[in-house]
Amino acid sequence: MQERFPKFRLGTELSTSFTATLSERHGDQVERIPTPHRLEDWLALHGLTVASCTPGQLDLAHELRESIHAAATARATSAPLPATAVRLINDRSAAGRAAAVLTSAGAREWRLTSTTGVEDALGVIAADAISLIAGERAGHLALCASPTCRAAFFDTSQSHTRKWCDMNTCGNRQKKSRFNASHRKAV
Ligand SMILES: [Zn+2]
Repeated sequence: MQERFPKFRLGTELSTSFTATLSERHGDQVERIPTPHRLEDWLALHGLTVASCTPGQLDLAHELRESIHAAATARATSAPLPATAVRLINDRSAAGRAAAVLTSAGAREWRLTSTTGVEDALGVIAADAISLIAGERAGHLALCASPTCRAAFFDTSQSHTRKWCDMNTCGNRQKKSRFNASHRKAV
């Protein structure tokens, strides 16, 4: 029955992929993790497999997601970081007990505890957001130019000129509406 749920948007950074599970925040919102099971699916796709997820844990995830979105938006617009969002991100980071482990093939994996898997996974996401917002990685946070989207994304282009959170959705839509507008003018 998973087909009836909106598809995930797979980005390159864990925390901005997570905030992209709610899209069109300023238009017709699309909730991509509406159920605990869908959160399990999303986490599994990002190397954070959990045994189960409760509705309460889904609430924690939504709360963390919106806090990351608020803090990343502030960072992208050089506004002061919202205190409540920062506190929540820090709390979730502190509550996680995930361990980074190295596989024999040399890859990094996350080992979650069996008892607090979702909290551990949210801790990993919160820590990723902290690293991103703190400017530890090459690139910078920006907001999608689509007025109905305004998603925070991580621009790793050399020139820092990326405009859209996703070329295939927001970028494409903008191109089409520009085309339609110029077409209308022409007739
Ligand atoms: Zn967008």
